[in-house]
Amino acid sequence: MAFGARPDAPASSPRVDVARARSCDDCSGWGTIVRNGRDELCPSCQQQPGCD
Ligand SMILES: [Zn+2]
Repeated sequence: MAFGARPDAPASSPRVDVARARSCDDCSGWGTIVRNGRDELCPSCQQQPGCD
C-alpha cells in the first residue's frame, strides 16, 4: 500500500470527499493540502460545484 493510514489525522479537517481524493496526486488521496500550516480542501479534487 503506497499510502498508509495517518494515525494523526486531524479531527478538525474540512469535509473531504474521499472517493474523489482517492485518485488525486496533489493531495495523495487525503482531499486536503496543508497551506500556511492549515488544512485546506484540495483544489484539484475537492472543488464542489455548489449543488451536489
Ligand atoms: Zn486532491
